[in-house]
Amino acid sequence: MRPASCSLRTADRPAVLVAGSCVGVNVLLALLGMIAPIPSWVMWPAAILGSAVGGVGCLIAGLTGPGRVSTFWKRLAVAATLMTAGTVGWAYDMLTGDGVAINPVTNAFFLAAIGVAVVALLRLPGRRRTRRGTVALWLDIAVVTVAAILAAGQLVAGTDMPGVRGVLATAMYAVILGTCGATVVAVIKVGMAGAEPIHPPSIWTLAPIGLLAPVMFVLTPFMQPWPHLNPTVLSLPMAGLLFTLASRAQVQANRVPRGPATQPLPTDRPHRPSVWRRSINVVPYLAVGLTVAMVVAVVLRTGSLPATLAIGAVMLIVLVVIRQLLALADNTELLDRLSEQAEHDDLTGLPNRRFFTAALTNRTANTTVAVCDLDGFAALNDRLGDDCGDAILRQAAARITLTIDGGAVVARLMSDEFGILLPAGHDLAEGPQLADALQHAFRAPLRVDDRDLLVTATVGVATGAGADVPDLLRRAELALAAAARAGGNRHRAYTIDLDAGAEHHAQMAADIRRGLDHGEFRLVYQPIVRLPHGDIHGVEALVRWHPDGGSPISPGDFIPVAEHTGLIIDLGAWIIDRACADAAGWQRRHGGAAPWISVNVSARQLLDPELPAIVSTALTRHGLDPRRLTLEITETAVFAGGAAMATVQALRDLGSGIALDDFGTGHSSLTLLRTCPVTTLKVDKSFIDGLNGTAQQEAIATSLSGIASTLGLRAVAEGVENGDQAARLHELGYRYAQGFHFARPG
Ligand code: C2E
Ligand code: CA
Ligand code: CA
Repeated sequence: MRPASCSLRTADRPAVLVAGSCVGVNVLLALLGMIAPIPSWVMWPAAILGSAVGGVGCLIAGLTGPGRVSTFWKRLAVAATLMTAGTVGWAYDMLTGDGVAINPVTNAFFLAAIGVAVVALLRLPGRRRTRRGTVALWLDIAVVTVAAILAAGQLVAGTDMPGVRGVLATAMYAVILGTCGATVVAVIKVGMAGAEPIHPPSIWTLAPIGLLAPVMFVLTPFMQPWPHLNPTVLSLPMAGLLFTLASRAQVQANRVPRGPATQPLPTDRPHRPSVWRRSINVVPYLAVGLTVAMVVAVVLRTGSLPATLAIGAVMLIVLVVIRQLLALADNTELLDRLSEQAEHDDLTGLPNRRFFTAALTNRTANTTVAVCDLDGFAALNDRLGDDCGDAILRQAAARITLTIDGGAVVARLMSDEFGILLPAGHDLAEGPQLADALQHAFRAPLRVDDRDLLVTATVGVATGAGADVPDLLRRAELALAAAARAGGNRHRAYTIDLDAGAEHHAQMAADIRRGLDHGEFRLVYQPIVRLPHGDIHGVEALVRWHPDGGSPISPGDFIPVAEHTGLIIDLGAWIIDRACADAAGWQRRHGGAAPWISVNVSARQLLDPELPAIVSTALTRHGLDPRRLTLEITETAVFAGGAAMATVQALRDLGSGIALDDFGTGHSSLTLLRTCPVTTLKVDKSFIDGLNGTAQQEAIATSLSGIASTLGLRAVAEGVENGDQAARLHELGYRYAQGFHFARPG
């Protein structure tokens, strides 16, 4: 910081002290003059000095502030200097003339000062507003100004100023009305449009300056007995003090470094509390109220209505009517926009669910509804971030809209789910055709942030006419859910059994909850053996459910329901605890010869941040060595990385093993073997089934064994059903296997 600017930044305080002293001196002199005669010039020096110091204060604020702040305060410094020049002129007129007449040049200085101050205030940027908003603001200002002129006119007419007549009176009235108008304009402008970037306390410290002239004018008749008292000598040091105080507040604000927290809010956001802005908006109506009261008072007092007052009142009414019409137009537009927003999605610009369901209601003609869901969108959004997720959704919206045109409604129903409504007779009105077209639309990758992303889609379709139409969205969503359960990236049409299925689903979820509470679940264990002899290395825990009084239900049926409803979290915690208890028991009985244990963990469980704690608690509680536990996860669950991958890492950090189950059937990506802390590959049964066939059929099983040994992973062949397969696996390098050939779960 340079020394000059440093001393400038600290000059604001002495300026306030000098201005304050000028006010003090003049007040003391005024009081003294009431008890003892004093020369009439004696108060002028402090008036001139006080006013000049006000200009200096503004200049300091102007020289230390940034950009627009600087311009504003420099303009005010010019205004204060013009005011000081006017004061000097007035002092000269008073001391050399008849004590009443004022030189036109003096008046010109005051008017120029007012003009510059008003320009400074009006040139403040304020909030960004529309053209209509600006017109409304100026109408409000006009309403208040007309009312203020009428009120001031009445005040002047009703105040008797001896010796002040003719041109002089007109000039004085012009100054007084000018300051009045300037204050009004400034208050309205700043109150309604905001004072940005000026420090708000500064603006409100400046506001009373405008009131000084009218107040002093009203007090003038009471000053007649004391010739040394003059409104100017009293009010100008006060104006100077207010200028220095306001500029000091600004200088202090300028000193605070401009960090994000102190930066002004974006200009289209309200800066002050809206209550304040609303109270300022009441000002035009108050002005109208005041005028009405004035008109009534004048008519009651004099029995007639002066022409000026009548014209002013009519002008006011016209202005208020225009303002109201404008507000009405504004409100109508706002309502239109709100209803548009209520029915549209901000992100994609498509209609939203509300619009879509409204479009379905009351429709009776044959209609097709499709619901299209982006596969794995949540995981992609997690991995790539919200901005990228938004870009994917926008692109998907554009793809769908391009694919389906002509009379169709395409809406974003929720998150990554889009709805399509086709009227009868549309080119694609046959359900399967529409679903095919939608899936086809996603065959080419989406280009997002300079990368190509292949995002597939799952589609549910329902077609109907008459009373069925309003139910089509629900039906299409049921079909979508069924298609998603079947693995996604496919489409499915609604059939009546889906309704039964949904009901069955809900019933099963309730039964699982009850089964958990009643201890209806148990674990069976299937050995994982060493090749070639088949001695037991470990066991895989597999859950079994015998609902009370019913036949056993396969995990293939109830695990998806438990996953879908989140019940897998509680069920999974029970499975982990039970498996650890059993394994710890074997360890106690058989020591090092006891089998290691594998437990299946579903994708939904991996999204639960509590999972590592659940596993660690079970291990500690039963005293099981973490290395004896392996958690089996699927590739699909961790493919997208994110939270699931972090959980897997935390599980691995406990010391337990991680197996990739059904390896080769999911989103297989060899990169996953580098990013995911895997210890075991469980090669899926479908590759084992191909053994002893052609070289091509064996190719994958062969290469997977190679990859596993290169990466130092254990490969387990799943679903080995006969001795030939076991022998071939051993030849291919497999050292571990599992399947009915060795043992069934039990
Ligand atoms: P998975 O994890 O791949 O489990 C192996 C499944 O293959 C078991 O069926 C097992 O009985 C069966 N299997 C084993 N050897 C053979 C064979 O040689 N031939 C044939 N055809 N099948 C064989 P299960 O017990 O019905 O389990 C089915 C699936 O349910 C499991 O597949 C797993 O995804 C899930 N599951 C089972 N238990 C649990 C559990 O405790 N937790 C979780 N999250 N999922 C489980
Ligand atoms: Ca498994
Ligand atoms: Ca498996």
